[in-house]
Amino acid sequence: MKELLEKILEENRHWTKKGKVATYIPALAKADPKILGITVIDIDGKAVTVGDCDTKFTLQSISKPLALMLALMDKGTDEVFSKVGMEPTGDPFNSIIKLETLRTGKPLNPMINAGAIATTALIEGQSGGEKIERLLEFVRLLAGNKDIRVNEEVYRSEQETGDRNRAMAYFMKDLGVLEADVDQILEVYFRQCAIEVTCSDIAHMARCLANKGNIAGKQIIPHEIVRLTNTFMVTCGMYNASGEFAIKVGIPAKSGVSGGIMALVPGKMGIGIIGPALNKIGNSIAGVHMLEDLSRALDLSIF
Ligand code: GLU
Repeated sequence: MKELLEKILEENRHWTKKGKVATYIPALAKADPKILGITVIDIDGKAVTVGDCDTKFTLQSISKPLALMLALMDKGTDEVFSKVGMEPTGDPFNSIIKLETLRTGKPLNPMINAGAIATTALIEGQSGGEKIERLLEFVRLLAGNKDIRVNEEVYRSEQETGDRNRAMAYFMKDLGVLEADVDQILEVYFRQCAIEVTCSDIAHMARCLANKGNIAGKQIIPHEIVRLTNTFMVTCGMYNASGEFAIKVGIPAKSGVSGGIMALVPGKMGIGIIGPALNKIGNSIAGVHMLEDLSRALDLSIF
């Protein structure tokens, strides 16, 4: 496996020059576009790491499936899906247009920003602090890493500039999709996006999902919630390139604008990638190409 990953990484390194790091959250603009790393953890827990895997990055949209699983465990499917739908959008992750044209204002799915904000609002806790602490504990448990924290600089940077997310949240509050205090929900949402991890952390989380929610014989997440979340990752996880990704790679995956990709092959492995240089859609450009090559080499597509 190590040799294969080294070959795939070296053959795709050139893509990092063709992508651009995200700049709309100012703190993300500091990322080095040349960074590239991948960790694969098989179902028995054997990890192989290649490239810049010590680099820390923030979860950004990779936090969306994690917040979804916690909200589903807290509130159940009926309540969660009364506030957020199950359909791909075909629009960018920060699109606001469908909120108005659909009249109900109910976001189409929990992988776009509006849907993720509505999902985060359903995480239980007396205060914003308690909610983010519960999510952090969940992430630490899945990653097997007690040291995972929020990157305060990235959090503040998005808090200061995230006016489009703020606009969506106020709009959903007006329509009754959001019921709690908008500032508190956004504080939790911006903090969840700023949770700092490595490739190995997200590969561990993905391995739990590949293993039907089980870690070392303990059922951490009900299998039904894992099944549902993996399905969302297949249909909506790679922004508005999810269809092409399903055809070319064919495995559940969720990307974030920091350049991370969390991917998994059910029953086989968890995969974590970092490559901050993004393609035009907002996915790690080299990361997507590496996953294509890995899927082809090991025949990983689930379809
Ligand atoms: N924090 C980012 C935002 O809300 C996450 C977006 C992403 O990774 O797709 O804009």
